[in-house]
Amino acid sequence: MTQQGILVDLNRCTGCWTCSMACKMAYHLDVDDYRVSIRTIGGNRIDEPLGTWPDLSLSWMPIFNKDCTMCGDRQWEGELPFCEMCCPSAALFFGDVDDPKSTLSLKREELLQRGYGETMLPAWERSRQPVFYLKKDR
Ligand code: SF4
Ligand code: SF4
Repeated sequence: MTQQGILVDLNRCTGCWTCSMACKMAYHLDVDDYRVSIRTIGGNRIDEPLGTWPDLSLSWMPIFNKDCTMCGDRQWEGELPFCEMCCPSAALFFGDVDDPKSTLSLKREELLQRGYGETMLPAWERSRQPVFYLKKDR
């Protein structure tokens, strides 16, 4: 069976929104229409850190919504999804969750071996699934 999924390396994501803009440009989305948007962890604004001085941290989480097609037509042609192709930090990895040799599965295995923890968003977020978030505390 084939099940396309997304892996996000949260340690590499810089919250730049390039993935979101690439998707909007590629699919001619309206100005307020997003298939992936970037959540700032702990803050209401993009540059608002988590914690109180001097124990502050700043990190981001791309959230894929249900309209994300995972660029299935592109993947079928052997091309990368627009957001993965344009991410300047190489934080996104797509592939077949059920294929142990897919890009996603190999990266997931590598990061888990290196001690990264893995989370997924709960069902009540109503986001695109499956999306695996991997992070390692520094
Ligand atoms: S996933 Fe990549 S393109 Fe998207 S916000 Fe993070 S670093 Fe930027
Ligand atoms: S996989 Fe394709 S449709 Fe989904 S957010 Fe990325 S560019 Fe947009």
